[in-house]
Amino acid sequence: MTSTTEPPIQLTPLLGMTLARLQQVAAEAGLPRFAASQIAKWLYDKRVTSIDEMTNLSKAARASLAATYCVGRRAPLAEARSTDGTVKYLFEGVGSRNVEAVYIPDHDRATLCVSSQAGCRMNCSFCMTGRQGFHGNLSAADIINQVLSIPESLSLTNIVFMGMGEPTDNLPAVLSAIEILTSPWGLAWSPKRITVSSIGKLQPLRELLDLTRVHIAISVHSPFSEERAGLMPVERPYPLTEVIRLLRSYDFSHQRRLSFEYIMWRGLNDDLRHADALARLMKGLDCRVNLIRFHAIPDSPLRPSPTDRMEAFRDRLNSLGIIATIRASRGEDIMAACGMLAGARREPSA
Ligand code: SF4
Repeated sequence: MTSTTEPPIQLTPLLGMTLARLQQVAAEAGLPRFAASQIAKWLYDKRVTSIDEMTNLSKAARASLAATYCVGRRAPLAEARSTDGTVKYLFEGVGSRNVEAVYIPDHDRATLCVSSQAGCRMNCSFCMTGRQGFHGNLSAADIINQVLSIPESLSLTNIVFMGMGEPTDNLPAVLSAIEILTSPWGLAWSPKRITVSSIGKLQPLRELLDLTRVHIAISVHSPFSEERAGLMPVERPYPLTEVIRLLRSYDFSHQRRLSFEYIMWRGLNDDLRHADALARLMKGLDCRVNLIRFHAIPDSPLRPSPTDRMEAFRDRLNSLGIIATIRASRGEDIMAACGMLAGARREPSA
């Protein structure tokens, strides 16, 4: 007689579920509607790691939930600490790729840069994530787990969706994560503490603008279409001029902030004519420009712009009425700086 082993039952994480989804779960488990709010409080306020800790649910209710669900919290698999205090955490991702989140302490701010996808399909030529191709979307559970499962979670002041992946290419999960972060039944954060970075896919960007109040950061990197297309293939289907046209129909004068990200490369996009063209594009928009130092990545001819050129570029933008700052570089020694996140290949389990 051959003995067969039952495959382990795959439990569904409760983490990452919105209140509406938890209400469905409660109804399916025969629990009263208010049980959904109780579960949300255990998940996002009390931050429990097991259903058994949800002690205001009856024992029978907990047993019924635990047959199908788990909390879904997963600790980081590894961490790397920079000399400047930045910490890069490796989390289980999707398919064969793990993902990274970067904790950046800075005086009274503590920011977590979260990933929204394993890899990325946008193929930007300067980005380590883009080079590894696309391996899958993270779920809202995967995103919220990055926020809750780092040791510094309770001290976080800001979250930026600037890690691996293009957030608007995985909008449903990103919207659910934002709802959980900002709802009174979730983490109850102000949307002003959250920034979503995008390369400007028009339709999902419009949805993000309509459905949330988070700050928006748009990756520009060149004001000239042909040059930008060489760096960011997304320029062909979604030209920057169209993205800016869309942004002009929203109010960024208060509550919500608009910024443009501009990585600077030597001899490529650090000329003052670039600054002049940028200023023309952004004329009349309530926005600021973050100038970002490039970190050389292997096998790339791109080189960082020298500091004096970055300063001249910043000063030119400022003189043209565009607020521009050079963003301090963090975590370069642990490959955690902008454009350097690559995750790690997951070894197949035996
Ligand atoms: S820069 Fe952003 S959008 Fe472009 S490939 Fe990298 S992760 Fe994707």
